[in-house]
Amino acid sequence: MKKRIFGNWKMNGSLAANAALLDLLKQGLGHADCEIAVCAPAPYLVQLQSLLSGRAIAIGAQDVSAQASGAFTGEVSGAMLREFGVRYVLVGHSERRQYHAESDELVARKAQAALASGITPVVCVGETLAQREAGETEAVVRRQLSAVVQRNGHCLSEIVLAYEPVWAIGTGLTATPAQAQAVHAVLRAQLLAATTAAARIPILYGGSMNAANAAELLAQADIDGGLVGGASLKAADFLAIVACAG
Ligand code: PEP
Repeated sequence: MKKRIFGNWKMNGSLAANAALLDLLKQGLGHADCEIAVCAPAPYLVQLQSLLSGRAIAIGAQDVSAQASGAFTGEVSGAMLREFGVRYVLVGHSERRQYHAESDELVARKAQAALASGITPVVCVGETLAQREAGETEAVVRRQLSAVVQRNGHCLSEIVLAYEPVWAIGTGLTATPAQAQAVHAVLRAQLLAATTAAARIPILYGGSMNAANAAELLAQADIDGGLVGGASLKAADFLAIVACAG
């Protein structure tokens, strides 16, 4: 399957910085043979829509409401995201699970809301360092994915999954290719048990992916791409990762 390299800008950027970064990406991309997306803060989606129209970079958002509309102050619905050309939305990023107390059930409902709006949810799962050290990695990621499978079984083949060990996000610590592949294989097996389309569901790795470690991670059998945080804010770094995937 075509590799996917998705950038997660988190709460970074400005109109000027985004324009400069996207200019460099557009100049540097050439004919990359992979699917590329950038997940931007919601206020910048209109800017991305105008700067990326007709381009090979898809627009992503970082969160979506589980609700369709109504009295939910501060929330942004899937239909609203769709109006700005959003193709992908992160759901259950560990920073949202951690700082906004998002439960497995809420993440599953957000995935459902995205799918209902024609947006592909990028479902993030991953264990904390304490959970890894307690030998709970497999149980944690299986539980997180299970909630999404139970609620979205009928259209599971439409999701993208991202394994992001929490201890590797923004820390400079990366899972070794073997550690990442082991968890990806667990997730693939769980998908296989749930749908005949499991082989077509991309499973991305995220957690301090950079130009130096991307090639080896992306060479693993069940690693179908990368979700890139910090390195997606620097055009040269992001392009170097894309080059490893192309
Ligand atoms: C992320 O935020 O999804 C992420 C993987 O961040 P970083 O690459 O900075 O670890």
